[in-house]
Amino acid sequence: MAETWSGEFYCVKCKEKREAEGEVKVNDKGTRMAKAVCPHCGTNLNRILGKA
Ligand SMILES: [Zn+2]
Repeated sequence: MAETWSGEFYCVKCKEKREAEGEVKVNDKGTRMAKAVCPHCGTNLNRILGKA
């Protein structure tokens, strides 16, 4: 059961904020990350959401 998060991500390629929806992942340090794809250029976007 994948958790999703939608909101603003910063795209390093566009150098702009993009609205996107992505999957929430938790890394080995317990930090929640949202992963999405830029709707404009297709670059992978990551956003740190904070500790779980
Ligand atoms: Zn982009």
